[in-house]
Parts: sequence; C-alpha cells; structure tokens
Amino acid sequence: MNSPVISRLAPTPSGYLHLGNAFNFLLTCLLVDFMDGHLHLRIDDLDEPRVMQSSVEDIFVQLEWLGIKYDSGPSGPDELFSKFSQRFRIERYHESLELLRKSGHLFACECSRSEIRQISSNGNYPGTCRNKKLNLLKGNQTWRILVPVQTLVCLKTFTNKIEKIDVSREMADFVIKRRDGLPAYQLASIMDDLELGVNLVVRGYDLRSSTGAQLYLAKCLNDSIFPETRFVHHVLQTDDAGDKLSKSKGAHSIQMLREKHRNPTWIYQETAKSLNLPFEEIQTLG
Ligand SMILES: [Zn+2]
Repeated sequence: MNSPVISRLAPTPSGYLHLGNAFNFLLTCLLVDFMDGHLHLRIDDLDEPRVMQSSVEDIFVQLEWLGIKYDSGPSGPDELFSKFSQRFRIERYHESLELLRKSGHLFACECSRSEIRQISSNGNYPGTCRNKKLNLLKGNQTWRILVPVQTLVCLKTFTNKIEKIDVSREMADFVIKRRDGLPAYQLASIMDDLELGVNLVVRGYDLRSSTGAQLYLAKCLNDSIFPETRFVHHVLQTDDAGDKLSKSKGAHSIQMLREKHRNPTWIYQETAKSLNLPFEEIQTLG
C-alpha cells in the first residue's frame, strides 16, 4: 500500500476511559508511528443525550497523561463543540440515509427491543418487518438496512490477509436510523471514516461484526475505497473475573489507575505484555 496511513482514535464520551481504551490508543499510536502515518482524534458524540461533559474532558486529560499525540482533531472540549462535533455532520449523514432509501436498501421497523429479544435469543433481528412495507417517511420509526442471506464481505487484515464475514448472520438487517431520528452508530462511523480517508482501523475484537456491517454499508453507498482499509481487531482487556471492562466500572478507569500508579509506565507495561512486545517499544511513545 503506497498511500499514507490514516487512522483514528474514536472514543465515545459516555463514560470514563479505562485500561481497555488506553490499550487501544497505544496500539493505534504504535502502528501509525511505525508507518509514519496520520492520526486523527474523532470523538463519537452524536448520541447527545448520552454525552457527558465530564467524560469529554476526561478524554483530553487522559490522552495527555498517556503521552498520546495526534495530528488532527479537537485540541480540547471547546474545539470539539465549536468545530469537530458529529452534530455538525448530521445533514451529511442524512444525505447518505436518503441515498440508501432511494436505492431501495431500507425498510421501516416498528419492533421494540424486547419484542426482538423474545423471538431471537442472540438479539439478531428476525426479519419481522422486512416484508411489511411500512411507510419509511412516517416519523418515529427505526430504519433498517436489508441484508440478504449469505451477504459476505471481505475484510483486509493488517497483514493484507482477507477474512470473510457473513453480515446476515452477525448483523442481520442492522439499524441505520434510530427511532428518535438520529443516524445510527454504524452509519456515522463509516461516513466519518470515508471522509477522513481512514485506511487503518484499530478496534477491539467485539467490534468485528460492526466492521462487517460498515463494509456492507460502504458497498451499498457505492464506495470502492473502504474495502482497501486494513483492520486490526485486538484482544479485549478484562477485569479479574474475566469480564470485558466497561465505562461504568471504576477500578480500571484511567483516572483511578492514575491515582494508583502516578505515571503511565504501568499502563505501558500492561500494553506491552498484552502485545508480546518489549516494553521499550511502547516507551518510545511518550
Ligand atoms: Zn421490525
């Protein structure tokens, strides 16, 4: 690949950053540094009711403490809200939604989450409204994208291997516009990545299905660039009980770790251990 590497850090400000986020940021930074690429900070703040001012501040404070430098994106909360917020891009997301609607990819769905769960034990959408032909232009409806059976997308790994994901099995008819009218995460994420020219995405293994969904969306939007993007799906940091870290659990928040360890060396060491890398490789980041 000859074009310069462009990647992004994409935290959601709905809780405090934790060790898992630090691991993701450090790995992204390492890979971008290694390839002399460009790193953008994108804060996923579209879901306004869930955005907490304190967690927006937390992102900037902890990035600085971790010694993570990025090349573009907001320098602090003020610049986020005045210039970089996803709220400024809502029109752009809606243009894509319209494109998908007009090309016949979408259907309206009136199912509640609990109704879906009653039918489908894994939460995968059972296709209830697919053939109901509900009016998409009526307000307060969820929009889903039709994912035909055996929709395979090709995912390119960091080492240029191709893996296949069956989107219909992992993200059947996923939501692309929410009942409250907001574009869904999958759409906002792919649109932002496309427009930033992102060609390296580093995310946790739990988001591999989302990668499949976004590759499918790129295809429906007639984009031919995104399939060239390389993906790293890394292991997830867990707590002592083996559960995935969450933003509501305090003990692993970077703020708490910071009070305990005073400098980020311990986090660098933990990251190096998870990656089987010599500690010195991570230390060069600071
Ligand atoms: Zn439905």
